[in-house]
Amino acid sequence: MPITDLKGVGEKRAELFAKLGVNSVGELLNFYPRAYEDWTSVEKIENLLEGGTYCIRAVLGKPVSDALLPGGRVLSKATVCDDTGAIKLVWFNNRYISRMLAYGGEYFFFGKITVDGYGAQMLSPAFAPVQKGASIHPVYRTTAGLPGKSISSAVEQSLTFLPETVNDPIPEVIRKKYGLCGLKQALWDVHFPKTREALESARKRLVTEELLVLNLGMRSLRGHSRGMSGVKISKDFSMEFESLLPFELTGAQKRAVGDCVADITKNSAPMNRLIQGDVGSGKTAVAASLCYTVAKNGFQAAFMAPTEILARQHFENLSKLLENTGLKVELLTGSLKESEKKRVRALLAGGEIDLVIGTHALITEKTEFHSLGLAVTDEQHRFGVAQRAALLNKGENPHLMVMSATPIPRTLGLIIFGDLDISIIDELPPSRKPVKTVLRGAADRPKIYNFIKSEIAQGRQAFIVCPLIEEGESGDVASAEEYAAGLMLNSFADIPVAVVHGKTKNDEKERIMSDFAANKYSLLVATTVIEVGVDVPNASVMVIENAERFGLSQLHQLRGRVGRGKFQSYCVLISDRRSPDTVERLRVMCGTNDGFKIADEDLKMRGPGDFFGERQHGLPQMSIADFADTKSLELSQKIADDIIFTYKDLRNDELRLLKAEIDRLFSRGGQNTMN
Ligand code: ADP
Ligand code: MG
Repeated sequence: MPITDLKGVGEKRAELFAKLGVNSVGELLNFYPRAYEDWTSVEKIENLLEGGTYCIRAVLGKPVSDALLPGGRVLSKATVCDDTGAIKLVWFNNRYISRMLAYGGEYFFFGKITVDGYGAQMLSPAFAPVQKGASIHPVYRTTAGLPGKSISSAVEQSLTFLPETVNDPIPEVIRKKYGLCGLKQALWDVHFPKTREALESARKRLVTEELLVLNLGMRSLRGHSRGMSGVKISKDFSMEFESLLPFELTGAQKRAVGDCVADITKNSAPMNRLIQGDVGSGKTAVAASLCYTVAKNGFQAAFMAPTEILARQHFENLSKLLENTGLKVELLTGSLKESEKKRVRALLAGGEIDLVIGTHALITEKTEFHSLGLAVTDEQHRFGVAQRAALLNKGENPHLMVMSATPIPRTLGLIIFGDLDISIIDELPPSRKPVKTVLRGAADRPKIYNFIKSEIAQGRQAFIVCPLIEEGESGDVASAEEYAAGLMLNSFADIPVAVVHGKTKNDEKERIMSDFAANKYSLLVATTVIEVGVDVPNASVMVIENAERFGLSQLHQLRGRVGRGKFQSYCVLISDRRSPDTVERLRVMCGTNDGFKIADEDLKMRGPGDFFGERQHGLPQMSIADFADTKSLELSQKIADDIIFTYKDLRNDELRLLKAEIDRLFSRGGQNTMN
């Protein structure tokens, strides 16, 4: 049903609803409240505290008085009382208040308590006559011109359109077994709950369903029938590989390599392992070691990176390292000339390449392997499940290794990867000096610039990062381009400066980044596009403007661009925000270089919603579930197992509606693509 079928929703309203992502009555039913106002817990007037938001039940002791303010605005005042005291209510610019509230009538009022020179008052409270009964009111995400009241009345109308019995995607046996209420009940109660308990039960049902749908969808994307690996690895070449390296592997790297070698020489199910290690912990060498062993055993290895520049960098390093080993290493990325791609693909299909490094070009249909034994994905959060699956499908159950610097909670990892083993690299290479991090204000810029210049004079390089600007945002935020222009004209007039930002074309970005890596530029001004993986050991300064605008994990990723070589490196956070929260957050950065600690703090301070909100996981957008809700994740996992066990196959007719929900979730767009 189009949303215009609702009473009171014409073309204009429909456009506003579309802005909120709601186009049909069905979508409106799934447009869940972002919060609730609980009118069922009534507070006595004597207990009200400044700054709190309350529901009171009180009698209008005097008629509402309207006063005209300069500029034609109306100020309405009333005094209400319960058996413990009285309080003033104030509304601005609502001419109807006096007509809506009857002298002597008893109402619920819901609002925030403020205190000014005239005493305490409740500011612009919402109200309802007590006869209507106390309930929990939904609070919806709104947009200009479409107030919450209009949304909630449209939702209420939609709910009345639901047929007597709604077909439920979750089979009844399963629902009963796990104590999940029916769909119709859940939809009513999530929008208009009568009690806290009703709301809880509705949320449980809807959250579980959404995660279940996600869970089952991920399983079918992964292809859960990965049986025995067709890749027989008999000999371990990791010692030989180590002798090629210009450094000794750290203990943690050795352990990770050992875990992987044990996996692939078992000759049973294929390896499915996540290598988790902080930025700069040396994940590439671990991957390279595995690629070496697999290649030496006569199979091909594929190493997939999310960007051209990273792929190219890995290619240059590894082809140099493996120069005299008799192994053939090639690069396959989208920006290569057609003829070059053709050449590489032919060699790959013919089995003449041992290790191929590339981007998404590796998983296009045209790319065929002769005998793919190992698939490695770097910076796993940049890839969707479907892309990893596509790479795996290029071989016969090849081994899989994914690498990530972002810690993923175990339960979420289970959904993304299925039964996944994890090796953690919790040690940095010994030569590494911890990056020194300081917090400064904008007034310190001249000093900071002088510092950058002195580092550059010693041969080092520096980054300055500015946040992305969204349209319509205030002008005090530095934009990369303007900022760089300013620098080139003034402080850094005699220094080669380059700029990259979101609008820089891809090939141009690649060129600038590799020129920077080759030290053709001393200073790179950039937005966060430089965040992922690039290794420039010569860079020693990272300056981050408007640091308060970044999440801690993001700041840590950015800081990880320096301190990768033998030089003492510095990270300067610039922020003029002095709010205690901001200062505390940025202080965390100054206090530790430990990525796991920072991710932890980030979760604590920003809340799980924000942390995972950056979609660092390649999963579809949830409408009610929260990826940090471990209990629900576990429950959905259990139910998904049960469903697979009970019904064997998603094509079972009893799962028809559930299957439709899966298709709907995964067609919403955004997932399984690069972000
Ligand atoms: P990340 O884990 O962030 O991908 P990299 O693999 O890019 O880290 O390694 C960062 C840098 O550290 C590279 O320049 C690499 O050559 C170097 N490196 C890796 N392992 C060691 C080691 N054991 N000793 C010294 N340097 C190392
Ligand atoms: Mg890396």
